[in-house]
This record gives sequence, C-alpha cells and structure tokens, in this order.
Amino acid sequence: MHAVTFEAPGEVALTEKPDPELEAPTDAIIRVEATGVCGSDLHIYHGRVQIEPGFTIGHEYVGTVEAVGDGVSDLAPGDRVLGCFQVACGTCFFCRHGDFHKCDESRTFGHGATLGDLQGTQAELALIPHASRTLRKIPDGLSDEVALFAGDVAGTGYHATVGAGLRAGDTVVVLGLGPVGLSAVQSALVGGASQVIAIDTVEQRLDMAKSFGAVPVHLTEQDPRAEIKTLTGGRGVDLAVEAVGNPQALELAIRLTRKCGTVSIVGVYAERVEVHMGLAWIKALRMVMGHANVIGHLDSVLALLASGRLDPSPLVTHHMPLADAPEAYRIYDNREALKIVLNP
Ligand SMILES: [Zn+2]
Ligand SMILES: [Zn+2]
Repeated sequence: MHAVTFEAPGEVALTEKPDPELEAPTDAIIRVEATGVCGSDLHIYHGRVQIEPGFTIGHEYVGTVEAVGDGVSDLAPGDRVLGCFQVACGTCFFCRHGDFHKCDESRTFGHGATLGDLQGTQAELALIPHASRTLRKIPDGLSDEVALFAGDVAGTGYHATVGAGLRAGDTVVVLGLGPVGLSAVQSALVGGASQVIAIDTVEQRLDMAKSFGAVPVHLTEQDPRAEIKTLTGGRGVDLAVEAVGNPQALELAIRLTRKCGTVSIVGVYAERVEVHMGLAWIKALRMVMGHANVIGHLDSVLALLASGRLDPSPLVTHHMPLADAPEAYRIYDNREALKIVLNP
C-alpha cells in the first residue's frame, strides 16, 4: 500500500509499505477513504515533535472496515467508520475514570515510537487497535469530510469549551483561528455562550469566525484588551481558549479573562515557557490544559455533527490525492489552507 511518511524536517514522501495485518483480537483494519492534514502533523513536519524517518504520519481518518479481530462484535467488514486520533485500553486507572486521553497504554496514530509506535492514517490501509472504542459507524447522511472532524478537531474544540466547564450565558474569547480555534468558536456557541470573541491576524479566518456568529477582533490592527473590556463591561471573559500554543497568546488569554474565570489551553506546548504567573494567581484563574479527551466526547460530538448543529464543512479548503501529500504539506505550512483532506 501507499503511505505518507516523515523523512526529514520539511520533507514528507509517498512510500510503498506492506499492508497492515490484524495483531490483536480487538483490532480492525480499515481502508482509508479520507484523511486530514492537521496542525499536529505540522509540528512533526517542522521537527518540533520528533519521530523516526520512514514513519507513517496522519491521525484523522474515515474509511471502510476491511477486517476485524475475533474480539470485535459491533463492527463488520463493509461498515463506514470514523476514528479517533488516539487509542485507549479501557481498563487502566485513567480509562476507568473516563480520562481516555491519559490512558496508561495510550497510543497516538502517526506520532512515532514515543507516542505508542502506531503507524499513521495518511495511507491506503490502517491498523486500528481497540477498534470498538476507537471507531464509530458514520451516521447516514453525514459526509466523509464532516465525519473526519469528530475524531480530532471538532472533539478538541468541544473539549476546549464545553469540556472546560463552559456554562450557558458565558462570554468566551478564542485566541487563534486555525481549525481547532474555529471549532472552539462553534462549540462555544452550541454550548450556550452569550458572546464569542475571536482573535487572529488572518482576515479570512476572522471572516469565517464572524460567519459562525463570533465577534472578530484583529490581533494587531485592533486592541484586543480594549475591545474585550468594552464587550464585557470592563470585566473580562468568563472563558478564554488558547488555541495557538505560544506564550504570548497564553499571556494575552490570562489578561483577557475575568477574575475567577477559566483559561483553557489546547494549543500544543512541548517546552518550558514564561508567562505572568502572578497575574493568573492574583486573578484566581482556573487553568485547564492538555490535548483533548476525544474518545470521551466522541458520541456527543458525533451527535452534534449528525444534527448539523456543529458544521465544520466550511473549514475544508482543499481536497487532494494522497500522492500529492508533499504539496499538501507545503501549502498547509504556508497557511494557504485551513483543512486539507487527502483521498487515497
Ligand atoms: Zn490532529
Ligand atoms: Zn487505559
């Protein structure tokens, strides 16, 4: 089969690999029909997240079940499915508490040996461990490219807002309008936010946030602190979502949040950073962070996608054949695309 592999920083390739085979009774093999290029793939592409050359990348996927192990009773060959970006054992301490994202045996697709040595989904075929927990049948009428969002981006937007304790009536600011930030805008509105303010520097992204119902604020051409003061009666927002993964964005999130409010950090951090901790402390902020419990939110997010109340389809800007992956990564790296869907 063909697969997209990381070769070196700034270089991915289409590589011929052996077809995957079932390894455990709870595994499934799927034929991938659509697979997304994600911001986390870009961290690998840049070498910021290090994986082995030749490793298959990608972790957003929909497809058709080809084979299942003896221990999988709820899926069968021919089922159309979507899947989560990571897998969890279901039996460890953390899984028993519903914290599937922190499973002791967690493995993430396409992130090399350090995250569980699970080959990625930007490929014609993929091995899916713990298939009954990782996969869901795609509801009738839901397109591949919308279903694709349930297992990563839409689940992360949901986690960053509803999962971070958003209450109906809250005011929310979202910093960074990549696909996750824009999904957080949608989830905040679906979760009952009275007002969502969306901050970025890219006009098209601000326009899209506005079309979803947010108030757009340009990071540098406007004054975000002054705008939010005006919009929140001088108090600051109830919930700030940091969807960038940058200390300046985090510090701004701390400044824009009201006393006793929540800062929800879904931007990726892999290093030590410096922020004004004294400000967070004196404001008695609640800070929640880390990657999303997408398995835990999967059924809720899929229901919202199926009903159309969450609709990420405007985020899909490019469809490309799998073979064009090197070009897709170049376009994505230049911020010329929001979501690229690759079709094997
Ligand atoms: Zn992702
Ligand atoms: Zn577990």
